[in-house]
Amino acid sequence: MRRERLEMSKKKLHTLREDLLAELRAKNAEAAAMIDEGVPDIADQGLTENIKGFLHLLGDAKREEILEIDEALDRIRDGSYGSCLRCGDEIDIERLQLLPHTRYCVSCKGILEKEARIKAGPGVGTL
Ligand SMILES: [Zn+2]
Repeated sequence: MRRERLEMSKKKLHTLREDLLAELRAKNAEAAAMIDEGVPDIADQGLTENIKGFLHLLGDAKREEILEIDEALDRIRDGSYGSCLRCGDEIDIERLQLLPHTRYCVSCKGILEKEARIKAGPGVGTL
């Protein structure tokens, strides 16, 4: 991959990372405020727990994304950035521009998603 492409991806990844961190911090503050506003009675206790759970899940997704960004930055450093982690082919430039932290090319991503759906589908655990 050309050097200026790499630099562009690097810049994008850093920006994306900062955005995600800011979002995560904002969500945490929001959650803290929601919970700090107090629980008027026992019935609302469950609701607060739900909010906490939801924000936790949301936070996990963001954290996962930040992790992917860090991995992509590592790959830029070691020179493997832009290659699919599954088949080793070069990932489309357009795909990288849209998703600079992607690990896979479009076709591998499709296969992996299909596999995940099959794994999550009914009948799992009976085999
Ligand atoms: Zn691939």
